[in-house]
Amino acid sequence: MARQRTIRRVLVTGGAGFLGSHLCERLLADGCEVIAFDNLLTGRMQNVEHLLPHPHFTFEHYDVTNHLYVAGPLDAILHFASPASPADFERVPIQILKVGSLGTHKTLGLAKEKGARFLLASTSECYGDPEVTPQPETYWGNVNPIGIRGVYDEAKRFAEAMTMAYHRHHGVDVRIVRIFNTFGPRMQVDDGRAIPNFFSQALRDEPVTVYGDGSQTRSICYVDDLVEGILRLLRSEYVGPVNIGSQAEVSMLELAKMVIAITDSSSEIVFEELPPDDPKVRRPDTTLARRELDWSPRVSVEEGLRRTRDYFIEELGREK
Ligand code: UDP
Repeated sequence: MARQRTIRRVLVTGGAGFLGSHLCERLLADGCEVIAFDNLLTGRMQNVEHLLPHPHFTFEHYDVTNHLYVAGPLDAILHFASPASPADFERVPIQILKVGSLGTHKTLGLAKEKGARFLLASTSECYGDPEVTPQPETYWGNVNPIGIRGVYDEAKRFAEAMTMAYHRHHGVDVRIVRIFNTFGPRMQVDDGRAIPNFFSQALRDEPVTVYGDGSQTRSICYVDDLVEGILRLLRSEYVGPVNIGSQAEVSMLELAKMVIAITDSSSEIVFEELPPDDPKVRRPDTTLARRELDWSPRVSVEEGLRRTRDYFIEELGREK
């Protein structure tokens, strides 16, 4: 059994990203000292500006595919650096492969050096276009390694393999979270994912773009619930991948209609071509998270969408 540890000083890679910045905020609120690294490829200073004056927060503009140096002790490393939107898979494919492989290697090396617990941000994309639903952690997935999405899926699958190799071979204390679709404040208006696209289109009364016939599903989790699940995993003794995600499975057409309704928009829905290898269904089996972490989401989809709407209204206002 892994030893119990107190987590006081933490490195978050991708600390200026959507999830990374929420994690930094929560860790600071829990009394930790937080060091955030981000190369700002998809992360944004705007996400962490309010944390900069905090005496226990340090930010470094740094690319974690390079050699990593952190002075002093580290109790945990949360490796969240990576572009994650399907639009990025075409825009920055090599950077995605590099941060999942080289970046994971460097951060694991640092965890070994510091004796720190290492938590990998993995993904439901490990399951690809799944032939099993809901997806349990034991499912090995259905991924096209040479497809456009393959750069992200395979980078994260490699990252999981590397993480387990460091655990088995070097005894590094590791945790792996497989993150399902998450939404909330700090998503980028133009990052190309369904929720930001739908909100920015609906709030501008522009056509809402549903890809394919919109029957493909995703299970969407509000960011605060996800962060709670990740921190429970970090503090748990469970080694091996754990799905964190919501059971609220919706089709993309339903989601588009929900966003139009909640924004009181006059937008119409238009159908566009489905991107290659776009998963048809996605829903986590969260038995393990419930059993090991006593975790399940608290925020309803409607409430999460309302909070996200308010954020996008503010963001679009800022752009004007
Ligand atoms: N999607 C859509 N319209 C958009 C953007 C995305 O219909 O403007 C679809 C996309 O094809 C996929 C789903 O929404 O089926 C979720 O896409 P997203 O990019 O949010 O994340 P994914 O779960 O595919 O990684």
